[in-house]
Amino acid sequence: MTAVQVAIVGAGPAGLLLGHLLHNAGVDSVILERRSREYVERRIRAGVLEQGTVDLLRAAGVGERMDREGLVHHGIHLQFEGGRHRIALSELTGGRVITVYGQHEVVKDLIAARLAVGRPIAFDVEDLSVHDLDTDRPRVHFRADGKAHDLRCDFVAGCDGSHGICRGSVPNGALRMYERTYPFGWLGILAATPPSLDELIYAYHERGFALHSMRSPTLTRLYVQCAPDDALDAWPDDRVWVELHARLETADGWTLAEGPVLEKSITAMRSVVVEPMRYGRLFLAGDAAHVVPPTGAKGMNLAVADVRVLAEGLVAWYDAGRRDLLDAYSNTCLRRVWRAEHFSWWMTSMLHQFPEHDTFQQRLQLSQLRYLTTSTAAATSLAENYVGLHHV
Ligand SMILES: Cc1cc2nc3c(=O)[nH]c(=O)nc-3n(C[C@H](O)[C@H](O)[C@H](O)COP(=O)(O)OP(=O)(O)OC[C@H]3O[C@@H](n4cnc5c(N)ncnc54)[C@H](O)[C@@H]3O)c2cc1C
Repeated sequence: MTAVQVAIVGAGPAGLLLGHLLHNAGVDSVILERRSREYVERRIRAGVLEQGTVDLLRAAGVGERMDREGLVHHGIHLQFEGGRHRIALSELTGGRVITVYGQHEVVKDLIAARLAVGRPIAFDVEDLSVHDLDTDRPRVHFRADGKAHDLRCDFVAGCDGSHGICRGSVPNGALRMYERTYPFGWLGILAATPPSLDELIYAYHERGFALHSMRSPTLTRLYVQCAPDDALDAWPDDRVWVELHARLETADGWTLAEGPVLEKSITAMRSVVVEPMRYGRLFLAGDAAHVVPPTGAKGMNLAVADVRVLAEGLVAWYDAGRRDLLDAYSNTCLRRVWRAEHFSWWMTSMLHQFPEHDTFQQRLQLSQLRYLTTSTAAATSLAENYVGLHHV
């Protein structure tokens, strides 16, 4: 193939869903991914889907397995000072829910849908580069199956994550980057044991933050706050379990179940926003345009929200010759992005131990947690952000 309407770089949730939404509207695309299919289908990352994400996947015809296997949750727990307090998400938001369904499962479903409709997707592509972005006919160069390809297109969708090449291909000065790094990371494990509680637990603890989550009725996902430069070797399984028990167990005798550790990784914590999310015929979506610390469970949901807006803009262009939605793309997305950035920063600041924290700051964190768990107004604010604000 030497020409296509939309060239999509990256087969994460953003790129795959964009390809699917465009297919549903009869718009032609190619998805180009540098990793193998097996790699992207096994990559353990996010797992909390907002109501709006679930609604979109369902409406797009890729929600069948999610509806069967996803775990619908109506609340989360905040834990501090040895006590656990439930935030009743659904009650506080007029019945909205979150669904726990692993990002890699969403990716598997979208790849299966892509292959089923026969639209092109190439894995293991090498040396990908994008050109002529400020013209009407951008080009994508890459190598696949040992051959060099030069693909002409109308638009390039940069869905290649936070370490992709699309954002860096924009001339200096055309984009502005807002960034914050946090002085800690998350060590995450996937354990082969049923969740010890049927909802998520966000724990504030003097030894550092911890999160109890899950990926299925038999798989528990757990995190502990660690130093940002910790090596995995510094965290043998025994140490991870000691910290999880200390940070998650409550004064009333609740205990955490252990199980074989299937996966272990360390994630750095960053906030990044790139403005605008467009340069000429290149549109950035998902982690290529913004990164949030995972505390608010927003990363994958933002990627999905971006490509919904982008797909609508591209379809309006092809079907009706309209450019207004594409022109509004960046501003439309950035309103939601900054709301999620604030929420993710706020949750992160409230729940973690900061190296520079003095006891005054810790008292403020505890006061905020007590307020959230005793005031309906405060709890509602957390709940509506957590399930996803649909009007921003
Ligand atoms: C290590 C990690 C752990 C995370 N854990 C959590 C979590 O626990 N909870 C949570 O809520 N969120 C988490 N997130 C955030 C969430 O997973 C992301 O927000 C989400 O993956 C964004 O989707 P995306 O499609 O924009 O990007 P990605 O999923 O990163 O997809 C981008 C794709 O582009 C491909 N690519 C990159 N460069 C090129 C290139 N040059 N050519 C072709 N293809 C390329 C990549 O291989 C990748 O498949 C995590 C993110 C990371 C990076």
